[in-house]
Amino acid sequence: MKVYHDADTDRSLIASRNIAVIGYGSQGHAHAQNLRDSIAAAGGSGEVRVALREGSATAKKAEGAGFTVMSNAEAAAWADIVMVLAPDEYQSEIWRNDLRGNMKDGAALAFAHGLNVHFGLIEPREDLDVIMIAPKGPGHTVRNEYEQGRGVPALIAVHQEGSGSGGNGFAKSLALAYAGAMGAGRSAIIETSFKDECETDLFGEQAVLCGGISHLVLAGFETLVEAGYPEEMAYFECLHETKLIVDLMYEGGIANMRYSISNTAEYGDYHTGPRVITDETKAEMKRVLDDIQRGKFVQRFMTDNAVGNPEMKAARQRQEAHPIEKVGTKLRSMMPWIGDNKLVDKEKN
Ligand code: NAD
Ligand code: MG
Ligand code: MG
Ligand code: MG
Ligand code: MG
Ligand code: MG
Repeated sequence: MKVYHDADTDRSLIASRNIAVIGYGSQGHAHAQNLRDSIAAAGGSGEVRVALREGSATAKKAEGAGFTVMSNAEAAAWADIVMVLAPDEYQSEIWRNDLRGNMKDGAALAFAHGLNVHFGLIEPREDLDVIMIAPKGPGHTVRNEYEQGRGVPALIAVHQEGSGSGGNGFAKSLALAYAGAMGAGRSAIIETSFKDECETDLFGEQAVLCGGISHLVLAGFETLVEAGYPEEMAYFECLHETKLIVDLMYEGGIANMRYSISNTAEYGDYHTGPRVITDETKAEMKRVLDDIQRGKFVQRFMTDNAVGNPEMKAARQRQEAHPIEKVGTKLRSMMPWIGDNKLVDKEKN
């Protein structure tokens, strides 16, 4: 894989451009603020503005942070780069209604996830550069790390080099400069394709990071509680301690985690891990990946969205009512400091 750093980026390409960030959520606020700070640090003439749908309650937040807020259509006509950071399920509608007819000739259309372009839900105009800058971390981490002088790594990709732009690899240079301005050049900028970013991202979040871990924690919690152990103990063993274990893996790999735990725990890891995550689990993971690659997952998600998200809403309601949430709320109130960075109450809009 090709890996780039700050020295490989030409910051002037970003510093002189007007950038519209569509959406001001997890990624949107981080992109808008990091880009603005980087343009100011480079003494550039470019400006970052935020675009939101009419009447959005989030406008106050973006204005409070000093951004001019525009409609998507106005922003599209104003910007040299349009970064689309609205939820994936609304992006194709935003493209059709607000961007397609309004973006400047030869401008750049940017994404932080390849889904809509890769699965053909957005078919960009030929004159546009179409690029991706996908930070490999949640938006709040992307902003915090930047402020600390560090940077979350990012993937970049070029879907098309627009007929109306600079040519000669300009789209890639622009993506590199954007990633650098996000802080990613301080760690690593990795070049990939819309297809690979999209499919690996969907697989990782479903099978391992979000779906895998949450359901592993729930199954373990339920097993202990059904066997008669107190919910409090089941919560500590199966949920609370995952952070400590994951931190050890994050800092030094799986071997580092195994070095730190007791020999008893390490032996149990080798002996029991494969009884829980079996060959059948891996075979199912392959079927999950296949559904993603063939577009079946995205089609199902978009269909649910088109009819008002009944499947998503029902699952969310069911999961929020799980006993692990109630006992967790009680236990975390005894450790109020661990909720200092909790986002769910502060940030939901
Ligand atoms: P989010 O749900 O946190 O925020 C979406 C924002 O879009 C909100 O500010 C909302 O008000 C706004 N919005 C909704 N409808 C809109 C419309 N019609 N016009 C303009 N704005 C609208 O979204 P997110 O999690 O930041 O995801 C944005 C993109 O970033 C997605 O493509 C996602 O896959 C990608 N991404 C997210 C993360 C992450 O950390 N959450 C990480 C990598 C990539
Ligand atoms: Mg969200
Ligand atoms: Mg991801
Ligand atoms: Mg994702
Ligand atoms: Mg233990
Ligand atoms: Mg040990």
